[in-house]
Amino acid sequence: MSSSSYSSKDEDVDSIIRQAVLKNAVQHDGKAKSDNVISKVIAQRPNLRNQIKSLVPQIRQAVEELNHLTLAQQKELLAHTSTDGTEASKENEKVRLLPSLPDAQMGRVVTRFPPEPNGYPHIGHAKAAIIDEEYARLYNGKLILRFDDTNPLNEKIEYYEAINDGLHWLGVVPDIVKNTSDDITLLCDYGKKLVETGGAYICSCSQTRIREMRAKGIPCECRSVSSESKEKLRTFFDGSVEPNSAIIRFKGNMADTNTAMRDPTLFRIIDGQHPKLGGSNRVWPTYDFAAPVEDSLDGVTHALRTKEYELRNALYYAILDKLLLRKPILLEFSRLEFDCMPVSKRKIVPLINNGLVQGWADPRLPTLAALRRRGFMPEAIRKFVLSLGFTLSETKPPFESLEASNRKIIDPTSIRLFFVKNPTILMVKNAHLQEVILNNHPNFDLGHRRIEVSSLFYIDENDAISMEIGEEVRLMELYNVTIRDAVPETQPNRVEICGTNSARNERVLIAERTGEIISHNMRKIQWVAKNDALPYHVLVPRQLYNGENFNSNSLECFQGYAESFIGSLSKGTIIQLVRFGFCSINDDNTAIFTHR
Ligand code: ATP
Ligand code: MG
Repeated sequence: MSSSSYSSKDEDVDSIIRQAVLKNAVQHDGKAKSDNVISKVIAQRPNLRNQIKSLVPQIRQAVEELNHLTLAQQKELLAHTSTDGTEASKENEKVRLLPSLPDAQMGRVVTRFPPEPNGYPHIGHAKAAIIDEEYARLYNGKLILRFDDTNPLNEKIEYYEAINDGLHWLGVVPDIVKNTSDDITLLCDYGKKLVETGGAYICSCSQTRIREMRAKGIPCECRSVSSESKEKLRTFFDGSVEPNSAIIRFKGNMADTNTAMRDPTLFRIIDGQHPKLGGSNRVWPTYDFAAPVEDSLDGVTHALRTKEYELRNALYYAILDKLLLRKPILLEFSRLEFDCMPVSKRKIVPLINNGLVQGWADPRLPTLAALRRRGFMPEAIRKFVLSLGFTLSETKPPFESLEASNRKIIDPTSIRLFFVKNPTILMVKNAHLQEVILNNHPNFDLGHRRIEVSSLFYIDENDAISMEIGEEVRLMELYNVTIRDAVPETQPNRVEICGTNSARNERVLIAERTGEIISHNMRKIQWVAKNDALPYHVLVPRQLYNGENFNSNSLECFQGYAESFIGSLSKGTIIQLVRFGFCSINDDNTAIFTHR
């Protein structure tokens, strides 16, 4: 058997190109130029000079893709992809250390991750949960998973389970699991207490009026306690008030420059079947009330939350002050966002409801269910999150840094297989029936597979189109062939010439087996033996938006043939389709593209 390292060489070329593009972009204000990159690639790998013609489209594509990123993203990605021992790549090998927590005592730190069970967890939740967990472990403390389930209209058992599954998959293990709804009676008691001590009041204004008064910074009449409002208060916490007829508001300062302090809502009446409590409860606290009280009562020492809550910190402390409850330390970190990807339940839900994506595990989404289905590893997500560090800075990391982190993990364990998209027939005139043994990995012993090949092969249409008569190419892991002829579809005796009429394309390539010796500048292509070909699809998720608009071509489907061996792999197996990319097996004849 000849050398089996072609596929790794091809990947090498791809990463050399991408690194050259990134370096060039970083040196030129974020805009790489194809010509510069071409000369850099040749300088780095002189033996590619002869192949450069076939590499130019690949280089152009990489330039176009990577020029879309911001300069900061390009720098970050360069650090993730560099394998050249530079400072950037060494830096990336280290996980950024989390800064120490203020006033943290060993063995005493309690953090919490408080998702609302109103959707599936996404990679932003992974960031929050992993940071919470890392701190709990760092200080030998505890992590609480608290389902923040105070809106019966939004919560579903399916979502509690999806969050549990997602965290389990990520390897985040909470020490305590609880629901805010477990404490509903206690929370209502604290609410009553707050009203009784003058820290909150019942307001019967309409939502529109409340909004207007807030905008103007003027209090309404409800703020001054009357005997009527005292009576109403009793009925409010009884649950005998109609939804929208009254709410409990914090007595803040209607003229505060921080609008979060302008008497925010603390309790409202919501009718609906709660997944844990059924219809037994109508009085529900808002996040603003439940979060500080629960954090305090749960013994949370450090409450970490994303930056958008920053304005609500004053309210969080004010509520605890008024209730004479212990105050945890609040800390903020930046939300994780990616360009053109909705890292937020609020943005994902409408996509699902409008049928623009097919559910929470649609491979275009950044949900954990989707990433898992696509072939991302939990360790890669953790490493990626920790590489971002605990900062407030708003730079969006490129999605490709997550891919780079994943690639390092799956590359050594994924078997290589051949897939040809848009197949064209290649007939090798002087080939004989033979069994070949193909290694499953170029560098590691991941076993092998046996394939019977005869004279008919499928090759990728793109390869076929660009081949010239007389060109010698390498059928990877097999032998060299020289292209002798191209038979057009219209040729009347085509079936006699090439023994087949089944290819979808215009032409059949006729070739001759011409040797074994591989030269560096020879094109090396993957193939599928016609008698071993399984019709196969690969779904390729693209970015969901082009700017502001939904990208209706965001899920591309490539059709072609794969080696029949692929049919024996179970769902979720991660493989590499040579010269195509990593994929995760979805069913008997479909895989989902992970990344290149
Ligand atoms: P969404 O924006 O998806 O609707 P949310 O903030 O309403 O999210 P929750 O379930 O309430 O979702 O969030 C639970 C925790 O996860 C919160 O502490 C929140 O700050 C954090 N979180 C949510 N989205 C992100 C994100 N994109 N990056 C980092 N942390 C996030
Ligand atoms: Mg929320």
